[in-house]
Amino acid sequence: MRIIPIAKIALLTAVISSCSGAGSTASSDTHNTDVNRALVVAASFYPIEEITNRVGGDFVITIEMTPPGQSAHDVQLTIKDREELASASLVFYMGNGFQPDIEKAVTTLPARITAVDLLQSVPLLPVDAQLEGTVGVPDGEVLNTGQDPHVWLDPANMIAMTHEITDAMVKARPDLSAGFEANAVAYIKELESLGTFIDTSFAQCESDVLVTSHRAFAYFAQRAHLTQVAIAGVNPEEEPSVKSLETIANFAKANKVSTIFFETLLPADLAQTLATKVGATTDVLDPVEGIDSDARASGATYISIQQDNVARVVKGLRCS
Ligand SMILES: [Zn+2]
Repeated sequence: MRIIPIAKIALLTAVISSCSGAGSTASSDTHNTDVNRALVVAASFYPIEEITNRVGGDFVITIEMTPPGQSAHDVQLTIKDREELASASLVFYMGNGFQPDIEKAVTTLPARITAVDLLQSVPLLPVDAQLEGTVGVPDGEVLNTGQDPHVWLDPANMIAMTHEITDAMVKARPDLSAGFEANAVAYIKELESLGTFIDTSFAQCESDVLVTSHRAFAYFAQRAHLTQVAIAGVNPEEEPSVKSLETIANFAKANKVSTIFFETLLPADLAQTLATKVGATTDVLDPVEGIDSDARASGATYISIQQDNVARVVKGLRCS
C-alpha cells in the first residue's frame, strides 16, 4: 500500500492555502491544518483509484491499497497497511471475493469509516464459458458468486461507480461538494466519449469474436456487441497443450479469427507456434487491473489504455 504522493500533499496545501475566490473552499488555516482538512480515501485497486483522484482532485488524498505492478486479486495487507486503511474516512472496494484480504480488513474498520462496495452499483455478468476443448482454466478472477468481476471495462460501469464515489465524498465533505461534482461531470464526459468510441468502432468487422486468454473482457465485449471466447492451455509459463492448439485452430478458422489476445506480450517462440499451428497472430489487451509505475509516469490512464484496447481489437477483428 502506498499513500499518493508526498508531492500531492504539498500541492494540496498550496491549493487550499492560495484559494480565496468565490466558490473556493479556501480557509486561512495553517498548512498543517490544510493538509488535515483533506478528505482521506482508500481505493482498493487502480480503476477505483483513478475515479477517486479525478473526482477528489486536489482535495482528496488517496491511499492505494494495491501497489503498482501487483495483482489486485492477490493483494495481502500488512499491519502497516491496515493502520493506513484505518486513517481513511472512506474506503472504496469491490466485494464478492474479488480482493479477499481487503474485504476482510473492511469488516474490522471502526464505525466512523464508511466502506462502499462498488459492485453493488453495477449489473454483474456471469463468467463466460471457456472454449470447449481447450484444456485447463483460462486466466482471470471469478467472484465467489460465480460472476465476472471485470465490470470497469465497460465505461458505463465506471460512470455508475463515479456517481457512487461522488455521492459518498459529498456526504463526507459537503463543504467540498461543488468541486467534487464539477470534477465528476468532467470525468464522466470523458468516460461517455470512450463509451461512444466503443459503441461505434465495431460495426463492420470481419469477425465479431474476441478470443482471449484472460477472461476479462465480457463487459467490454457486451458494450462492443462482440462475443468473448476465453481459451485455456496456452500461456507463457508452460508448453502449449496440443489439444488446446487444435481446438483453437478449428475455432479460429470457423469464426474468421486472425488474432488471439493475451494479457502480456508472448515470448516470440510461443507467438510463432500459434502463428503456424493456429494460423493466428497474437496481440495484447490490457484489463486495466493496475498501471505499472512506468506507464503511469508516461501518462497512461484507464481511458488511454481502453482507447488502445479498442484500437487493437479493431485491428485484430479487421473492422473498418
Ligand atoms: Zn482479471
